[in-house]
Amino acid sequence: MVLKVIPGAGRRGSGRLVLALLAGAFVAQPVLAQPSAALTPHQQLARDIYRDVIAFRTARGQQQVPAMVAYLVDRFKKAGFSDEDIQVTDYDSEGEKTQGLMVTYRAKPGSTDKPIVLLGHMDVVDALAKDWVRPPFTLTEEDGYFFGRGTDDNKYGITNLTATFLRLKAEGWQPSRDLVLVFSGDEETGMVSTVAQARYVAENIDPAFVLNSDAGGIALAEDGTPVAFRVQSAEKTFATYEMTVTNPGGHSSRPRSDNAIYELAEALGKIAAYQFPVRATDLTRSYFATAGKLTPGDLGQAMLRFAEDPSDAEAIATLQADPETVGTLGTTCVATMLSAGHAENALPQSATATVNCRIFPGEGAAATEAKLKEALGNDTISFKLVTDVTESPASRLRDDVKAALRNSLDKRYPGLTILPYMESGGTDGMHYRTLGYDTVALSGAALKASDMFAHGLNERLPVDSFYGGLDHWYWILKDLAE
Ligand SMILES: [Zn+2]
Repeated sequence: MVLKVIPGAGRRGSGRLVLALLAGAFVAQPVLAQPSAALTPHQQLARDIYRDVIAFRTARGQQQVPAMVAYLVDRFKKAGFSDEDIQVTDYDSEGEKTQGLMVTYRAKPGSTDKPIVLLGHMDVVDALAKDWVRPPFTLTEEDGYFFGRGTDDNKYGITNLTATFLRLKAEGWQPSRDLVLVFSGDEETGMVSTVAQARYVAENIDPAFVLNSDAGGIALAEDGTPVAFRVQSAEKTFATYEMTVTNPGGHSSRPRSDNAIYELAEALGKIAAYQFPVRATDLTRSYFATAGKLTPGDLGQAMLRFAEDPSDAEAIATLQADPETVGTLGTTCVATMLSAGHAENALPQSATATVNCRIFPGEGAAATEAKLKEALGNDTISFKLVTDVTESPASRLRDDVKAALRNSLDKRYPGLTILPYMESGGTDGMHYRTLGYDTVALSGAALKASDMFAHGLNERLPVDSFYGGLDHWYWILKDLAE
């Protein structure tokens, strides 16, 4: 799951930003260490897998994904999955050797329902031991937490899905439709395996829908009270532009009226002042309608008013002024890097600004670029799109998926609000949405805002959350495939 403490801080998503928002009203309480009660056999199995997969340093440059795949394949084979059920594919991800893994849990004979695809990613953002308090690639249980790189993003998802498959197999359960695990090997970097797997899935499996373990989940207040179950149903499109002004330059003792740095600076001022049109969809309105009830103060009121009337100027102003909500109101573009000039005593021959955009679903990169140019009112600035752009539509939270989630959730947190949301970053899911598959991310984890350390130092997951979520997929899959 892709979640960062700071919304939109990087290329990949920030799945939990709203959690901080929802939980903001609650007073922090000390976290109590959990007594290590005797584990059930399934808890022990899941914990063992968790420990083992975290030990593989599956970060870019380490070439460890194939070793982790071999480990998982061994687990699946020992549990009774046949060679035909398991597919390992090699990928070259921008020079890094990685692999993707697909495991099919076959339906009972005569089944006609379309398969369900379940996503997770095996790679992690790297972690440097010298910067961590505990060794990042050793699972450490301490003070009520599991520490280690991937304890949250996304080796928890890989562990939970894998352990659930093994558990269902051991029970002799036969689904009424094929269930297919699709684990990618470079979600955090090139997404080469993701894109190839998504294409393979579309051509060979054609699932009814896709469920992702890499975002969403239970948002807890700081005192541990559950606030909502967040379902990632859409992702904004990531696009980065370089805006460049060029100039003949010259000697700095002979300034001229035109100057690349001044022109670029003026253009950036216009970008800073520009606001993209406010957008509202069924997803974002129902999101604000629910989140507004859970958010205190003016912000919560603004959410409710916007949900009621997306042209409410006062509500828009409040939501646009808050970094937590501005991204849900429409496209945003912001300058993130700058480079200009070549010598202190020369007039600049070029000046370039990097502008990162998070494009609202349906708007498109071309229209976004056109709007930026319109805001500049100036065609002497050249634009270059420097990222691969994957545009993906919003997904429906299907009734059958919602009902299965409801049933699973009610065993732990009866009546907990289900809250679909739009992610400002990106996960594997966008590559399935773009192919037309309804894809929602619904991790089984329960986290407080203060537990968010994915991609960062000392990543952790509450021990309670780990064990508490182990039935999550079990009930969902039983519901959807029985
Ligand atoms: Zn992730």
